Amino acid sequence: MAVAPPTSTVKAHSSQADDATSPSTHAALNPPTRTREFLGAPGAAAVFVLCHLVLLSFYIACAPSTTCGQGEGVTWLLTTSVKLLAGTYTLYNPTSLTLYALWLLWLVALFHIVPGRWVNGTRLRNGTTLSYKINALPSLIITLATCVAVLATVGRAPFLYLHDHMLYLVAAAFLLSAIASAALYLASFRPGVLLALGGNTGNPVYDYFIGRELNPRVGQFDIKCFTELRPGLIGWLVVNFCSAVAQYDRTGGTITDSMVLVQLFQAWYVFDSLANEPAVLTTMDIVTDGLGWMLTFGNLVWVPFSFSLQARYLALHPLQLGVMRCLGILALQAIGYWIFRSANLEKDRFRKNPSDPAVQHLAYISTKTGSRLLVSGWWGRARHINYLGDWIMSVAWCLPCGFGSVIPYLYPIYFIVLLIHRERRDEHKCHLKYGADWRRYRRIVPWRIVPYIY
Ligand code: NDP
Repeated sequence: MAVAPPTSTVKAHSSQADDATSPSTHAALNPPTRTREFLGAPGAAAVFVLCHLVLLSFYIACAPSTTCGQGEGVTWLLTTSVKLLAGTYTLYNPTSLTLYALWLLWLVALFHIVPGRWVNGTRLRNGTTLSYKINALPSLIITLATCVAVLATVGRAPFLYLHDHMLYLVAAAFLLSAIASAALYLASFRPGVLLALGGNTGNPVYDYFIGRELNPRVGQFDIKCFTELRPGLIGWLVVNFCSAVAQYDRTGGTITDSMVLVQLFQAWYVFDSLANEPAVLTTMDIVTDGLGWMLTFGNLVWVPFSFSLQARYLALHPLQLGVMRCLGILALQAIGYWIFRSANLEKDRFRKNPSDPAVQHLAYISTKTGSRLLVSGWWGRARHINYLGDWIMSVAWCLPCGFGSVIPYLYPIYFIVLLIHRERRDEHKCHLKYGADWRRYRRIVPWRIVPYIY
């Protein structure tokens, strides 16, 4: 049964929260941002253009009648990018824009209709705490059950249509994410809005890109939390489902062992993330970042369409691995998952209850903020050992595709860049937060991500 949504935001320090709309309080709460990431506005614009070129090029290369980059190196990436810049391709059409908009509406409807409990997020710097409805996992299950029901009743045609027109859906998602980000940017100038500390430079290009408003909401519907978990992760498995149907269709009724591995690994990752939905409320994306183009694009476009490229590649190039290779890849996945999950769980348990029998033996240092930092166990091996596990899993997802094309490897290549950049951002945040205590932690745990290497 659904727990009734809270009628208002929880106020921890009501005097501060009550006059949040007064200009002086607003200015004090939202100081101008002095530091810029991605080399500021020019870097942000470059990332914007580069992401478009890379992903669209990959989907042009992986159209149903093409090679998906097999045996072609990477020169095609350059030629396709030049053609894209020259406007050679017709990418936008009303059907795919409508389909993508309907997909988002479906997810919004599930958010509202499907029962869920309400959980409080972390306390904001204006003294308030927001509540979040937790129902992403049932939304995923309903969506996948609907796909199976459509397959059983209507047949393969709708999924083959989506598979064949994926390029246009990618383009539609690009356009809609750019429009949504513009709307979010403009709406962030409402009085009383709490801004992200990193998104208030005053430069429209940069603030649009990085995200200006911290928690845009329509009533109790939190747009950032919704965007973070649903269109990307649920969409990823729907795109994978289309690829499995396409492979079955092209091979005359076979699903290869490589496709089974990719589907299982990625479904596991998504189910695991959504089953732990409240954990997102303490991530950097929710706590620190504003909702701008970076997060909107990441979740509306990048996650569903780039993370699913392995399954798409296997739909176009079916590959049987045999038992030994499957076992080797399964072992790599298991190692990655073990590091990723146990490191994240260890910190989560320790932060919730340091006396928990599973973590009470771990060494830690106390900081002036009152928080404790683990210096043994996983967090004593490297300061972001959890990233290593995540990256190992990303490699295990690509190996089932063999080595015929670079396209399935986009994910671990991009992911290593993202994780290194993210680690540096987190390092900066923790240094500001903990000061000398963080420097002490760094002396005790010198490795960033990979013990004895990096
Ligand atoms: P992390 O789980 O790595 O947490 C970092 C925070 O943990 C720090 O800011 C600090 O916060 C706290 N902390 C740091 N060191 C310690 C310590 N020694 N003891 C206790 N607490 C500590 O945050 P992320 O959000 O970056 O990552 C979460 C997961 O999501 C990771 O597994 C990552 O791989 C994954 N991820 C996946 C992505 C994808 O695209 N697939 C993208 C990004 C992340 P505090 O202020 O509370 O002290």
